[in-house]
Amino acid sequence: MSDSTAPANRADIVVVGTGHGGAQAAIALRQRGFAGSILLVGRDKMPPYERPPLSKDYLSGTKPFERMLIRPPAFWEERAIGLRLGTNVIRVDPLAKTLAVAGGEAITYGTLIWAAGGDPRRLSCPGAHLPGNHALRDKPDTDRLIAELAAGARRVVVVGGGYVGLEAAAVLRGIGCAVTLIEARDRLLSRVAGEDLSRFYAAEHRTHGVEIRLETGLEKIEGEGRVTAVRLAGGETIPCDILVAGIGIVPAIGPLIAAGAAGADGVDVDEFCRTSLPDVYAIGDCAAHSNAYADGAVIRLESVQNAHDMAHVAARAISGDPVPYEAVPWFWSNQYDLRLQTSGLSLGHDATVLRGRPEERSFSVVYLKAGRFAAIDCVNNVKDYVQGRKLVEARAMVDPQTVLDPTRPLADLL
Ligand code: NAP
Repeated sequence: MSDSTAPANRADIVVVGTGHGGAQAAIALRQRGFAGSILLVGRDKMPPYERPPLSKDYLSGTKPFERMLIRPPAFWEERAIGLRLGTNVIRVDPLAKTLAVAGGEAITYGTLIWAAGGDPRRLSCPGAHLPGNHALRDKPDTDRLIAELAAGARRVVVVGGGYVGLEAAAVLRGIGCAVTLIEARDRLLSRVAGEDLSRFYAAEHRTHGVEIRLETGLEKIEGEGRVTAVRLAGGETIPCDILVAGIGIVPAIGPLIAAGAAGADGVDVDEFCRTSLPDVYAIGDCAAHSNAYADGAVIRLESVQNAHDMAHVAARAISGDPVPYEAVPWFWSNQYDLRLQTSGLSLGHDATVLRGRPEERSFSVVYLKAGRFAAIDCVNNVKDYVQGRKLVEARAMVDPQTVLDPTRPLADLL
């Protein structure tokens, strides 16, 4: 296998997944001069597109799909990157180096990059099968939701107070929907942020008219033929036209684990994104790796940035120029006129320092671990974000009292 044009059923490098990680891996390989054949295989029927706008400006109708394409359609052809779309890989045979696909002929690979991401976790309560219950992970999900909004749905229950739920709630309020948000935990954003931020975002959403119910879940989705209400665990019934669930993802690793790859919550990878299977790499949301910014703990990072960084690590390893993965994690979220930027991982922090005043809607929260500047959340505060990121990267030891003074630039602490 050496011709750079991939036929639809074999390639030197087959990439499974056409999200940010998969697309970036193919792009990085060509940028590095890889001349063999590359085939991108994806379940999605559309060429690679950006996911973050789905719960933001694509949902609100302010960003057309064409502007979300990771590259224009001609790019893939020009770079001789084959696209096999609408294709679901159901089995991996690591000895024969083949992939079985649903309803199609097998695909043979020389090296496999698994960038399949995750599937949205689904509600499992009675009534979860009813039409009107939406996930928000890909374009088809979002298009179904947009179609129901266009048909007049206005009362929405959002389940899950993570980024998906909160960003969707903000957009839905913006287009005039009545929104009630249900979160199982005792605060919003509990998986990714500390309590100061949770309180701030809860207050913001309430100010914008979102009804929030914490520490509860759905007992039942009611309706005949489609959703008409939800009943909460405490007995409250909330009438609604549609439901949007943003309750996390399940890493899409079934075929790799069935093929013998090590892993549990994610497929295990080393610092070069290699799985335990020969010539099989895994990157992005589904890759469980030891992360220096989590004190070496094995974690998965669900972010565009991580998908990109790992794509480059895998591409370099495959091209014979390996560098270990050691990127500083960062995330962002847009809700209303608030831009949240996060650097580092707050996981396991033992102290927080609030810089500035949340009432002014521009502030930061610094997370310390044994005196080390471990992470920073910045709301409408780009300066702190840029400077704080350097402190995270430097693993700087800092004096909390100095951090506390918002007039003192974080750069002074480096
Ligand atoms: P998430 O961050 O895991 O948040 C989901 C929240 O819903 C969690 O607090 C979860 O609690 C709660 N939950 C779970 N089951 C529930 C139930 N039955 N009833 C009520 N609450 C329930 O997941 P997400 O918001 O769906 O996001 C999915 C992925 O997309 C994440 O990786 C996210 O980071 C990514 N994403 C990122 C952005 C961004 O960076 N701006 C935007 C959109 C999506 P438990 O933790 O107890 O399960």
